[in-house]
Amino acid sequence: MTNPSDSPKKGICRRSVLKSVPMVAGAIISTSAVAPNLFAQTKLTHDAAKYQDHPNNGQQCSGCVQFVAPASCKVVEDPISASGWCQLFQAKSA
Ligand code: SF4
Repeated sequence: MTNPSDSPKKGICRRSVLKSVPMVAGAIISTSAVAPNLFAQTKLTHDAAKYQDHPNNGQQCSGCVQFVAPASCKVVEDPISASGWCQLFQAKSA
């Protein structure tokens, strides 16, 4: 009869878990360092959004839901003008 404590343990042992901690920590740190760059690159360029620095048929950035005063936009790269416009215009609700 064999003693269960004599056979090699199957599954995850404490040592292997402890060895993986630095790798997991490294992955978390590298992911958090890359993430801000990913978000920073999500804004469209002026050309891609067909941005212009003047209104279009009475529509302008200051009346758009994406506008962030005084001269920024949530979806198009800075800078923009409050009196500008692009094809992504969405009117603020009244
Ligand atoms: Fe941004 Fe275009 Fe809206 Fe202007 S019109 S705030 S650039 S989405």
